[in-house]
Amino acid sequence: MESQTIQVDHCAVRKEKPKSDQLDFGRIFTDHMFIMDYSDDLGWHDPRIEPYQQLSIDPSAMVFHYGQSVFEGMKAYLTAEDEIQLFRPEKNMQRLNNSNDRLCIPPIDEKFAIQAIKKLVSVDSDWIPEAEGTSLYIRPFIISTEPYIGVAPSLHYKFIVILSPVGAYYKEGINPIKIAVENEFVRTVKGGTGEAKTGGNYAASLKAQEIAGKKGFAQVLWLDGVEKKYIEEVGSMNIFFKINGEVITPELNGSILEGVTRNSVIQLLKYWDVPVVERKIGMEELQQAHHDGLLEEAFGAGTAAVISPISQFTWNNNDSLIKDGKTGAIAKRLYDTLTGIQYGREKDPFDWIV
Ligand code: PMP
Repeated sequence: MESQTIQVDHCAVRKEKPKSDQLDFGRIFTDHMFIMDYSDDLGWHDPRIEPYQQLSIDPSAMVFHYGQSVFEGMKAYLTAEDEIQLFRPEKNMQRLNNSNDRLCIPPIDEKFAIQAIKKLVSVDSDWIPEAEGTSLYIRPFIISTEPYIGVAPSLHYKFIVILSPVGAYYKEGINPIKIAVENEFVRTVKGGTGEAKTGGNYAASLKAQEIAGKKGFAQVLWLDGVEKKYIEEVGSMNIFFKINGEVITPELNGSILEGVTRNSVIQLLKYWDVPVVERKIGMEELQQAHHDGLLEEAFGAGTAAVISPISQFTWNNNDSLIKDGKTGAIAKRLYDTLTGIQYGREKDPFDWIV
């Protein structure tokens, strides 16, 4: 695969770029996209960069019926010296292949995929916004395209990468959110697809999110799908608590998605000698820690927000304010350090930047 060259077909007319104050998330796409096909006889083939355009896909394509699809989410950042930085892209490509494995999609060549992403980002590099906190969101995804409505793994796929300039997640500084513990719906179960990044998990999460949103909550706190006792994730982020001086995050159990940010947070905390453990943590324990005054911080971690402090959680109609509802010191330090590394303001002791 490394030997395959990527053909580039430049678009004739360039689109107008948004002003940085018009950027939100995921509605504007750049001039080009990367695309590569898979068939059972040729394997992955014909990698190319084309003008961003609509796809022509048969209505019977398997992805429309049985949801055999996977995706990733990562960003390109522009430094003050106008250098383009990717943050741990190899982790995203590893995760894409883990998701592929779970969904019976043939693996991609991870190194080649990073090469393709770099090339696409450089073709559309003038789309990377410059304003503070903005970035170019990268969305690689794979869909099953065989025209067949039998339930089976598809024999044809497309791997596509699209790019979207996105605004700063926090426009007025890092902002704590209120969350609702979800007692009825579950995102996924052990043995299900929770540790894969597949569209079905997100479809399954919408209902709870919609109900919580109407009640004024920013995100739901997902519990395990079997006992509904143990904490798994918050919205589409991994979750961390600081209890009595120790940072705790739920251990990976098959239904939690392993976030690149989660992994980076754990590494940073260890580097700083802050005690951090990955273990099961239940709602009873969390409520008790809060009651005893030992719950010092809670925050979500993911590519979009980086660190999202949690000011309050509501469980069985009972509101628990975390400390004074302000951003905690660990959350702030993690946010400043991670964004510092991503935007090239801080040194990168782990060689995360590409
Ligand atoms: N959990 C879920 C369900 C997610 O969708 C995401 C976002 N990819 C995360 C956690 C955080 O992962 P990352 O840090 O790699 O963005």
